[in-house]
Amino acid sequence: MADVEECVFCKVARGKIPAYILHKDEHVLAFHDINPQAPVHVLIVPIKHITDLEAIGAEDADIVARMFGVARKVAQELRFEANGYRLVINNGRPAGQIVPHLHLHVLSGRSFGWPPG
Ligand code: AMP
Ligand code: ZN
Repeated sequence: MADVEECVFCKVARGKIPAYILHKDEHVLAFHDINPQAPVHVLIVPIKHITDLEAIGAEDADIVARMFGVARKVAQELRFEANGYRLVINNGRPAGQIVPHLHLHVLSGRSFGWPPG
């Protein structure tokens, strides 16, 4: 599929683009964001090319659950769990999604405003 061939996060998952990887298993990859918006900024992505929340199928329920589990594991391993952290999904271009491959932003290490910008 052309989308997959050109997808930056699929390339990271296949090792075609280098990244600072924190976790990789059969279904989920976690790596540091290249342009961090907080002292901790980790991306959690499914290995499967899923473009956005609307593209999640019933068969993907386990993958999505694992993404949250990996976010929690990263928080424990990097020891920012006690300081609080924010999970963000920018879904769709108007909401700020630039990379059309589902991803969870994990942000920590500073305080966060509400509502988000
Ligand atoms: P979004 O705007 O929600 O689509 O977020 C995309 C994120 O991917 C941004 O925070 C980018 O800094 C990040 N990003 C893009 N390319 C890479 C890359 N090769 N390695 C790590 N992070 C990346
Ligand atoms: Zn992809």
